[in-house]
Amino acid sequence: MSTADSLEQWLSIFRRSAKAGRLAHAYLVCGNPEGVARTYADQVASYLLCTATEGRPCGICKSCIRVPAGRHPDVFHIEPEKKSRVIGVEAMRTFIRNLQQSAYEGDWKIGLMLHADRLNENAANAFLKTLEEPPPRTLMLLLTDSPQTMLRTVISRCQRVNLPEPERKKTEDWTPVVDGILQTSLSNDPLVHAACAHRLNDLLDETKTRILAEEKKRAKDTEAEEEVLDARAEARLKKVRAAIFQSLLHWQRDLLLLVNGCDEGLLFHAEHIEVLRGQAAQLDVATAFRRVRAIQEMDTRLARISRPALPVLESGFARMGLS
Ligand SMILES: [Zn+2]
Repeated sequence: MSTADSLEQWLSIFRRSAKAGRLAHAYLVCGNPEGVARTYADQVASYLLCTATEGRPCGICKSCIRVPAGRHPDVFHIEPEKKSRVIGVEAMRTFIRNLQQSAYEGDWKIGLMLHADRLNENAANAFLKTLEEPPPRTLMLLLTDSPQTMLRTVISRCQRVNLPEPERKKTEDWTPVVDGILQTSLSNDPLVHAACAHRLNDLLDETKTRILAEEKKRAKDTEAEEEVLDARAEARLKKVRAAIFQSLLHWQRDLLLLVNGCDEGLLFHAEHIEVLRGQAAQLDVATAFRRVRAIQEMDTRLARISRPALPVLESGFARMGLS
């Protein structure tokens, strides 16, 4: 299973528990605290704090934009001190005090602990009671990439979420074309957006022609019916399209990570780091989010209609402008 699929599965488990009113007090989120674990934490915090009435997290309300930017007043952070690299008892006391105040905006408060394995023993002991009985409507998220080094007393009070490490990028026939689109798609020029839409549309058309030809050849060998052939080709095309859109989405996620100042080691398209850095420098968090949404919406709309795809792609890329 891919990292994205696995992350989505853990998020859907969280949403179901939240809807059923059965959230744990604390989650131990195992994965890179600057990468997939942070993405999970931001997503669940956004889910609880989002002000939209449905489709939470909406990704565009004030809460959804402030959570991943680390600027939501009801999300309290604690992390190791720079010098000692540990989470000490003084910082812990402040963290607990903050969580005991009432929420500023929503009705939820989130306590976000980065590198929870760096809790020193005094800090851990000061934390245990809050971890066991947090203030009402308070969710603790403990992020770590080394749960094996943590105190048993802390671990046993958390529900565990095991996120996988990011997979490496695979090279497919379509990779160069998609990479080309990604490298030029950041622009305010409508002609550039139209060109991206056309290139992607041509790629999907060519892929379809190629797959149909392959399936026809196979059908001759096996004497399959035309309907069977069409269904097979359609299924394969769907898979390729999903992979292409995932690659587009990973690029936008990489940009969002860079805009938020996350570790560059976590990027999916790491081989294009220079281009990504250049694009990230032109983006703010809201625009980076909007571009993620634009890709997701193109994907959803294309899955619903059969063809023509071009108008969907044109309006999708047009929404990826900078302002
Ligand atoms: Zn929202």
